Amino acid sequence: MADSHGGDSRARPGARGGKRTRSQARSSAEVGAQDAAASSPGETLGDREAPQRAGSCASLAELAALIPTCGACPRLRRYCVDVAANKVKRYAGWDYHGRPVPGFGDPSARLLIVGLAPAAHGANRTGRLFTGDRSGDFLFAGLHRVGLASQAESAGRSDGLVLNGVYISVAGRCAPPANRPSPAELDRCLAFLRRELQLLPEVRVVIALGGLAHAAVGAVLAGERRPFSHAAEHPLPDGRVLLDCYHVSQQNTFTGRLTPAMLDVVLSRAARLSGLSSEPG
Ligand code: SF4
Repeated sequence: MADSHGGDSRARPGARGGKRTRSQARSSAEVGAQDAAASSPGETLGDREAPQRAGSCASLAELAALIPTCGACPRLRRYCVDVAANKVKRYAGWDYHGRPVPGFGDPSARLLIVGLAPAAHGANRTGRLFTGDRSGDFLFAGLHRVGLASQAESAGRSDGLVLNGVYISVAGRCAPPANRPSPAELDRCLAFLRRELQLLPEVRVVIALGGLAHAAVGAVLAGERRPFSHAAEHPLPDGRVLLDCYHVSQQNTFTGRLTPAMLDVVLSRAARLSGLSSEPG
């Protein structure tokens, strides 16, 4: 259920992210040696204090540069590094991102979409949320249908995707084993979502994809505590609206629990409520 679940473009130290040819890609031995060094005892898996610094980031770009440096959750960081080192065959030519994934989209967004966490071979590979997996295919096809995305596909950070008035984020920034971050890990990561929201002052509507994203947004936004219910609208004290939607994971989309038509209803309503569309919704 992790999102492709799951950040962009911006931030990245180093020029990772596109699909490489085999000749450009580092050899498996090189990758293994680098990642083994990164995860060996005594080696840092990132900056354990990064969440505490989120509040002092002055811009989305600064925040997006901070997030991939985070190492506050050793279990998750080890997992992401391991996945990046032990690639699945179909992505053997990729240079995995393998680090926490920042949000991405329109800095003037009026609609924020929050998922759960990056997928191991989706955003953890491409470095952009909901990019490179079936969950993202489902989400961006919907955003394109309602006029909020320039294209229906989200394959990599240099694919030309442009979001119109929309920003994409997640509750947890690291791909979790079995798509299950612990409550403590999610709590630790909320500092990034909280700062993102502060740096997106135009946001009027937040779509929570699934119950855990709903809880995360509720914790960040005025302590919203009403239960998750698909398509439910939760007015918030500051005038914003929290809108629930089943997660776009294959678990939901392959079973018909969430259909393209159901997603379109939620996205159209969000576009209407946020002033991104004057169409009935
Ligand atoms: S889940 Fe969040 S707080 Fe934990 S290591 Fe990843 S980015 Fe840092």
